[in-house]
Amino acid sequence: TPLSRIRNFSIIAHIDHGKSTLADRLIQLTGGLSLREMSEQVLDNMDIEKERGITIKAQTVRLAYTAQDGIEYELNLMDTPGHVDFAYEVSRSLAACEGALLVVDAAQGVEAQTLANVYQSIEHDHEIVPVINKIDLPAAEPEMVRKEIEDVIGIDASEAVLASAKTGIGIAEILEVIVKKIPAPKGDPQAPLKAMLVDSWYDPYLGVVILVRVIDGVMKKGQQIKFMNAGTTHLVDRVGCFRPKIEQLNDLSAGEIGFITAQIKDVAQARVGDTLTDAKRPALQALEGFKEVQPVVFCGLFPVDANDFEKLRESISKLRLNDASFSFETETSAALGFGFRCGFLGLLHLEIIQERLTREYDLDLITTAPSVVYEIELTHPDPAGVTQIELHNPADMPEPNKIATISEPWINATIYVPDEYLGSILKLCQDRRGIQKNLTYVGGRAQATYELPLNEVVFDFYDRLKSLSKGYASFDYTQIGYREGDLVKMGILVNEEPVDALSMIVHRGTAEVRGRGMVERLKELIPRHLFKIPIQAAIGGKVIARETISAMRKDVTAKCYGGDATRKKKLLEKQKKGKAKMREYGSVSIPQEAFIAALRMG
Ligand code: GDP
Ligand code: MG
Repeated sequence: TPLSRIRNFSIIAHIDHGKSTLADRLIQLTGGLSLREMSEQVLDNMDIEKERGITIKAQTVRLAYTAQDGIEYELNLMDTPGHVDFAYEVSRSLAACEGALLVVDAAQGVEAQTLANVYQSIEHDHEIVPVINKIDLPAAEPEMVRKEIEDVIGIDASEAVLASAKTGIGIAEILEVIVKKIPAPKGDPQAPLKAMLVDSWYDPYLGVVILVRVIDGVMKKGQQIKFMNAGTTHLVDRVGCFRPKIEQLNDLSAGEIGFITAQIKDVAQARVGDTLTDAKRPALQALEGFKEVQPVVFCGLFPVDANDFEKLRESISKLRLNDASFSFETETSAALGFGFRCGFLGLLHLEIIQERLTREYDLDLITTAPSVVYEIELTHPDPAGVTQIELHNPADMPEPNKIATISEPWINATIYVPDEYLGSILKLCQDRRGIQKNLTYVGGRAQATYELPLNEVVFDFYDRLKSLSKGYASFDYTQIGYREGDLVKMGILVNEEPVDALSMIVHRGTAEVRGRGMVERLKELIPRHLFKIPIQAAIGGKVIARETISAMRKDVTAKCYGGDATRKKKLLEKQKKGKAKMREYGSVSIPQEAFIAALRMG
């Protein structure tokens, strides 16, 4: 397809404002699917994505649209992931497009997530086409929303399309506006092939599928292509696009988005952001912006039932086939037995993998405290002659007298937040050892830049940021290297027994606050027993925080908690039958949920 007939765009919308419905409509109107096939929403297809309202993997659909000028255009609609953990994938998806539809609910108006995404889109020089959706609703106030788009986001909305993805109003107009307003891609079809790897995933029938945006040249079936950053060469055996059904093509030319397969077995060989070129006639330079994404958050995953270990191994291996950004290796723990030490892009990524293991593979798991990677300089070489170690697991922390220095990763964080929430966000950053670098205002919004230790961010920073700003703050970060810190290992003791799954590395200055928060939460999370249970946080032998769960009296239980007791008994029976969801520590039972919940800071 000639460049002038191609339009590449994404859709930006707050959850529930109608992104998926609109996408379905566009597909329907351009004949991609029959009405019957439309019964299931096409774009988000993972359960977790649906429930959380975020897209985890990018999807693209190609639409053939004959415009009023009589010309048939090729529209490539790209869905983008929506969370900071996947910021790099988002940036590559956006880099593959020239424009975006900004969908705003006519009854709800501009909301937080919209802002964050629009600004990213603007940064990629996108042409933004505002669409005011759900105008069929009685509560719709399209004119107010139009003004809001102009005031809050600062883009011209005078030509915003008024639409209803539900009834179909405005959909034809949207297609027309896409063609008119969104610029055609630029590129040189005659130049040596240069294509950006936007996404890759494992398909049981096709093997590794690679989503590409061709920048220059042509990608053909039968071509030898070189991955410029990975340095590997592969033979392209399929070229095609999704309509959304798979359609095989002979080639993809400059400006087009589509997929290829090249007999690749492992997604790890097809890294997002890599540049694909012709092996025989290579491009001189790879595309800018390639980044090798590395796991930054590590935690242990252990089966509640030790017999599930092999099943856990198989399940993790299967998930890994589709996601090269997480890593795993076996780990043994005194209290938890055999499990895996896994690395993730962030806390949401961790939760998604954990949830999929639980849901799709029916495994009960215990997750240990997430940790970043520390660099430790030893005072003396260890028996292998090593003086520097990378610490992924607090359990492997050497004795304090063996540590010369310990360093932690820092990030440079950019936070956008409406003025009214700025105060509480600055305090949050301050509490997390942040160093303010810059503070500016754009419209009614503040932009704050902070240097922060990653360790203070991985637990719940994003959640806190969102709740303190009612969802309006957005956050993005890049890693800026390691810095020495006064870091110590904090252990948690339940009934005098150390619970290694909960031990974590903390800064000495914030240890007491962390320790206190942890024991207070555990007090709420661990059910009462027939005896008193002390809960302590300690550094070395020194207790820094302590709570006690008082004993429950037998007679009181029977009388006052009659109903509860039957329920509890039922629960216990169920647990005995199926899998025990409690973990025994000495004589104390800790519910599975407590492990994750305890790590969330109040
Ligand atoms: P997404 O989260 O942005 O993908 O939103 P969905 O497309 O899943 O839509 C969220 C809800 O809004 C669904 O129940 C849709 O049926 C409904 N919806 C979408 N567009 C419209 C519309 O134009 N009018 C009305 N009344 N409801 C709509
Ligand atoms: Mg959706």
